[in-house]
Amino acid sequence: MGKPADLQSMVTGFRVSAALSVAAELGLSDQLAGGPRAVGDLAAAVQADEDTLRRLLRVLVAVGVYAEYDGSFANTTVGEELRSDRPGSLRPLARLLQDPAIWAAWGHLGHSVRTGATAFEALHGIDLWTHRQRNPEQNAIFNDTMAALSSYVGDAVANAYDFTGLASVVDVGGGQGVLLEAVLARHEHLTGTVFDLPHVVAKEPRSSALESRWSVVAGSFFEAVPAADAYLVKSILHDWPDDRCLQILRSCAAALNPGGVLLVVELVLGRPGNELQAALTDLNMLVVAGGRERTEAEYAALFEAAGLRLTRVVDTGIPMSILEARRSSGGS
Ligand code: SAH
Repeated sequence: MGKPADLQSMVTGFRVSAALSVAAELGLSDQLAGGPRAVGDLAAAVQADEDTLRRLLRVLVAVGVYAEYDGSFANTTVGEELRSDRPGSLRPLARLLQDPAIWAAWGHLGHSVRTGATAFEALHGIDLWTHRQRNPEQNAIFNDTMAALSSYVGDAVANAYDFTGLASVVDVGGGQGVLLEAVLARHEHLTGTVFDLPHVVAKEPRSSALESRWSVVAGSFFEAVPAADAYLVKSILHDWPDDRCLQILRSCAAALNPGGVLLVVELVLGRPGNELQAALTDLNMLVVAGGRERTEAEYAALFEAAGLRLTRVVDTGIPMSILEARRSSGGS
């Protein structure tokens, strides 16, 4: 008897996403960090309508995010993950859906499937990055999302890859520099640069101990990137169609120091485990950014077209892999 109910909850799953997103926007889990609170007290604290907040909480109790005791509500261990102060907090990710432009783009998925076009651009007439540039608040939430999602990836990458013999690292499209920070902290001989668009790029590391080995360059990876022995390229190529990926890879290939490496960090399609996560991220890239997730063979083909070659795939112990590439000729 499981199947019809499962199908129904899949079909209505977006309602749960919407409820979670509002809870995140209101900061309910932060409000409950100190322990259970009565709904009236909570409603006053987050400036919500008390009766309606109770209805929202009823859903979130039913899915196990909050618990109710005698009219008071508390975080469950799941609800705790929506607290802002948790490392890798999912609050920013949940808040992203509060951007009506993102929500509407997913409502336009059918257009993407019929035409192959990016729903976001078809609907709004601008690309995702321009939208974020024009909406600083949304830009900040997106940057927080990537920083939170990347926080657990940073250590995994820093531990999995041997940076011996390399001196300088550029985090290409590095955003808040979370990945770079983990790599510099673990490998003290490296100096690092975060490279991203001017309205995004991290001005300084969160850890002051890294300041002397840290620099920042603003620009576009479609034009040029600073020279380096190693490029970290995490969650970048999946944002773009093949022709744009080639431009990014060629920028890196052109500036790579002799003997240097390109380290692409992505969820690789076709690897066992995380099939659903990979498949959904792939659709998200289609809908909002115009990119896609790729198989190892597809990455290898992209590298080759950009004058690079895939030299190995390094597992990190988490769903993301490191695809190491070097120049096809001239470097080793
Ligand atoms: N590497 C980071 C951020 C990935 S999100 C991480 O994994 O956490 C994609 C990043 O690409 C964003 O920070 C965005 O600002 C950046 N980006 C988009 N277009 C860019 C361009 N033309 N040049 C440089 N960075 C760009």
